[in-house]
Amino acid sequence: MLLTIQKFNLAVLLVVLSVLYAIFIDYYYEQRDKMASVVLESLKDDMSELSYILSKTIENKEQLGSTRAVLDRSVSNNDFIAAIMVLDDNNVLLTTDPHYHKAPSKIDLYKEERSSPYNKLIGQKGVEGVIRFYKGPQLQTLNLLFLLDQEELATYFSENKTKSIFYFGLSPVLILLITGLILHYFLGKPLEKLRQFAYYQSEIPKAFRLKELEAIRASMVQTFQRLDSEKNELYQMARTDSLSGLANRNALEEYTHRLIADASRSQKEFAFLFLDLDYFKSVNDAFGHNIGDELLQSIASVIREELRSNDFVARVGGDEFVIVLHQYNSLAELIGIIERVQQCLTRTWVVQSHPINITSSVGIAIYPKDGTDNVSLMQHSDIAMYEAKKAGRAQYHFFTKALNIKVQKTIALDKAMRDALKHNEYELYYQPKTDVQTGAIVGVEALIRWISPTEGIIPPLTFIPLAEENGFIIELGEWVLSEAIRQQKRWSEEGLDIKVSINVATKQLLSAHFEKNFVTLLDENDVERSKIDVEITEYLFLEQNKNNLQVLKMIHDQGVTISLDDFGTGYSSLSYLKKFPIDNLKIDKVFVDDYNTPEGAVFLETIVKMGQTLDMDIVAEGVETEEQLAYLKEIGCNIYQGYLCSKPLPAEELAQFFIRMRDQQKDRG
Ligand code: C2E
Ligand code: CA
Ligand code: CA
Repeated sequence: MLLTIQKFNLAVLLVVLSVLYAIFIDYYYEQRDKMASVVLESLKDDMSELSYILSKTIENKEQLGSTRAVLDRSVSNNDFIAAIMVLDDNNVLLTTDPHYHKAPSKIDLYKEERSSPYNKLIGQKGVEGVIRFYKGPQLQTLNLLFLLDQEELATYFSENKTKSIFYFGLSPVLILLITGLILHYFLGKPLEKLRQFAYYQSEIPKAFRLKELEAIRASMVQTFQRLDSEKNELYQMARTDSLSGLANRNALEEYTHRLIADASRSQKEFAFLFLDLDYFKSVNDAFGHNIGDELLQSIASVIREELRSNDFVARVGGDEFVIVLHQYNSLAELIGIIERVQQCLTRTWVVQSHPINITSSVGIAIYPKDGTDNVSLMQHSDIAMYEAKKAGRAQYHFFTKALNIKVQKTIALDKAMRDALKHNEYELYYQPKTDVQTGAIVGVEALIRWISPTEGIIPPLTFIPLAEENGFIIELGEWVLSEAIRQQKRWSEEGLDIKVSINVATKQLLSAHFEKNFVTLLDENDVERSKIDVEITEYLFLEQNKNNLQVLKMIHDQGVTISLDDFGTGYSSLSYLKKFPIDNLKIDKVFVDDYNTPEGAVFLETIVKMGQTLDMDIVAEGVETEEQLAYLKEIGCNIYQGYLCSKPLPAEELAQFFIRMRDQQKDRG
């Protein structure tokens, strides 16, 4: 059976209490009997004294009445005697009080079997004694009777009773109190500690397996669980904005703090955007706060939907939001996201059948260059946001001047680049690919040029990377593809058998309509498939896209060859050379430049050998000197490309160059 602490304490107190009261009661009866004995003793003394006086009086033949005064004195001296009688059997010979003139019955009188001295006194009429005397030689007796004053006796004993209870009944209570305190401090307190121990350790020591402890522990576990869930609820409440359900300032601070810790470790940047709705106050003024709130809710959920789940959005004020972006690879991509968010907010919202037009202004601070903590990022993005407002709203603004300029340039370039396609400002130049051993031109690579009426010839490296980022490369690439294929057709119609290599960006290759487009172009122009080559880069293999293999197979199945461009600069894993249908490897210029260093030479020779093993043609790019060419010839490289042979040329010039070279070859042959 399990013992509870409370029961145990109670039992201890009860035992102590009953022992104390037993002692007290025993003591009380003993005291009472002692007092009764004293009273009895005094009565006996009086009795023996008076019986002596009376027997002497009778023997001296004096009148019994003459003792009356002595008897009266005894009565008045002893409080417990009400009256004294002298009896001869039942005849009253003398009485001190005329009220008592009849002898009481024997039963009411002193009885020997009454054991305790107290019982000999209380409830008894009187105490009887014997007067012995000689009448001549004859011994005769009379009875002397003390009638007891019961009232007096009762008050005497009850006085004592109250005193006893007062002095002795109180002490157990005090003792009990002290015992209780001792139990509390020496049993309760240590057990309390044990309870805590039991709570934190799920295993209770066997020695303490008390029912109580288990119950307390269980209830504490429950309580803590409830507190935990309440705490979580409060935590969530403290972190979310009740109107929009987005994160609030607290959560933003916490998030930025964590992100800064991560970003500083990995030395990455992130963008802190401050988005403010334009003229939102007037919405509230015109339609009331209810509609304003409803609009804010819709806007919040649209922003949330427009971003990826990894991006962070918080509502930090009435119509102010903070967006933190950390997954973008370039400024152009970042701008793309910002523009997308702004665009999806810029529309006519309908709230309770009221059409409302909204635009937004965004300020951007970049960690770490525009701020390294939450406060400075907040301030600087806010300042940038005001710049956007000043510039006429519905736009974004970077905190850093240089960035703003760069962004302005990017935007301008973006626009100009797209316009250039409409205005036919692009042109393809062609650079020969030459056989290392024979010097014969085996093909050309089409390289785009932007012939700007104002800026002159713009090289592809100024606009191709941006076009790749913002997706314009798909459109531009289609133009290149169609232009290059048509050029091949034109040349072949002119009797010039020139294979054309076309650079195709990864984005373009993986774009939705590439396959169909490509095949259509080949069919429409009716080109000889083997006279077309597609140059791809290693980035294609990085894409976790199932289509990358499929699209290459399609190209290859058409009979078009595939060259892997800039080989060695990317994420060279040789495994994909086997997996993908690749015909040619183009060794990047940096390795060709290094041909005369030991490492460069080892690299080149290894690639060439590998190409021979895999039955691929190796094309060396950027060959500028005879020495480089001699070296390539020595190690058995097949083809080269470079200024040594020719710079990229417009189609017309290339054709002339091709004819010249062909004729030279013929002359030699
Ligand atoms: P790429 O495909 O590696 O093209 C080779 C680049 O090296 C060309 O630069 C070419 O002019 C240059 N080059 C060739 N021989 C020499 C040499 O001996 N010395 C030096 N210093 N350079 C040499 P370009 O035309 O400026 O093109 C740069 C890059 O732009 C290309 O690199 C290619 O990635 C891209 N590109 C050009 N046209 C197109 C295009 O039509 N579509 C796509 N997607 N990308 C293109
Ligand atoms: Ca190329
Ligand atoms: Ca290249």
